[in-house]
Amino acid sequence: MKCPKCKSENVSIQIVNESHLVNKHHGIIWWICIGWWWVFVKWIILTIPALIFAIFVGKRKKIVNETHKEAVCQSCGYNWKTK
Ligand SMILES: [Zn+2]
Repeated sequence: MKCPKCKSENVSIQIVNESHLVNKHHGIIWWICIGWWWVFVKWIILTIPALIFAIFVGKRKKIVNETHKEAVCQSCGYNWKTK
């Protein structure tokens, strides 16, 4: 594979996995008011039972995983998506 920018053959390909349900961003005020305890409470109330549930019952939630390959040029640092 050749780099489209500098035509170098020194290109490495890596597989990038994107999970879409996780990408939820909050503002700084949210973190100060709610975030610090909400994450803690959510972790205990939701995550631990969910993990136990997942181990015994199997996957319940559907997470959309998108996998694509990303090529990175080792010569100029240019990166682009490939199939
Ligand atoms: Zn390049």
